[in-house]
Amino acid sequence: MLWPRGLTAVWADPGWSLLQQKAVAAYWGLAVGDALGGTVEFLLPAEIAQRYGRHDCMRGGGWLHLKPGQVTDDTEMALALGEAILGRHGQVDALTVAQRFDAWLHGKPVDVGNTVRRGLVQFRAHGTLEMPEDDYDAGNGACMRTLPVALATWRSDPAVMIRASRTQAHITHNNPLSDAGTECINRMIAIALAQGSRQEMLDGPVADLIRRYPVFQFRRKRLPSNPSPYIVDTLRVVLQVFFDSNSFEECLVEVVNRGGDADTTGAIAGMVAGAFHGLEDIPNRWLRRLDPHIRAACRQQALALMDLSLSGRARH
Ligand code: MN
Ligand code: MN
Repeated sequence: MLWPRGLTAVWADPGWSLLQQKAVAAYWGLAVGDALGGTVEFLLPAEIAQRYGRHDCMRGGGWLHLKPGQVTDDTEMALALGEAILGRHGQVDALTVAQRFDAWLHGKPVDVGNTVRRGLVQFRAHGTLEMPEDDYDAGNGACMRTLPVALATWRSDPAVMIRASRTQAHITHNNPLSDAGTECINRMIAIALAQGSRQEMLDGPVADLIRRYPVFQFRRKRLPSNPSPYIVDTLRVVLQVFFDSNSFEECLVEVVNRGGDADTTGAIAGMVAGAFHGLEDIPNRWLRRLDPHIRAACRQQALALMDLSLSGRARH
């Protein structure tokens, strides 16, 4: 096994299988994309260009006044979800997940989405584990934290993945577009872990998503920008950039420089591109600046979830 970029070996183990590398790359990809995008969240592409030229390094700042390499709710909620899943040996149990999300909220996180807060307040007050379906609230908050579900269920029947995905999603976000988009991302990650191609992703999960909900249609090589937290806007940008780029770095730099909900487009693009392009493709200058506690937690969870998915012991 080669570690051509040297420094990765400080935190990565050359004995990891390709699958373990891809799982860790997906988790580090999520965190790196979140930290990179956090700097430019809610800016317009022109404002980013004026301030930074091309934003391509871990510099912190942004409206949340982040430290360089600091992540936001996207990564933190994924880690909370992963802990809940590991604590139940692979099962996505709504009460366990809601309790873990609630504990995270008690810790005064740097950022909390409105729909997430509303859902967790309902849980706290009434024990609600599933928000009522809401046709008008199709935010990206369930999708941004979905990675542990993808890692736990990538070898499972589609029905198992869908049930697990909706269980975690509906604690805060109960919307058909959010469900469909999140399930598409889970399936894309599963294909990447199985060393599938981008064409398989386009022909399978992406085609299914657009067939069911044509609003997700995206134009190749056309540049939508300033994506809002609406799941459709978010995923159209993530999909277009992922399919039109050829490396992890190219994908992530392009997606965060579109501005808008950039930490979340960065997080979602990062998990898919990380699983697809692999560990050696993630620039060390980004990994080096990533919060070391987050870097360690992502690695530990990725490996534990992979073990669980491979052992056949996972309870769903
Ligand atoms: Mn965020
Ligand atoms: Mn965001």
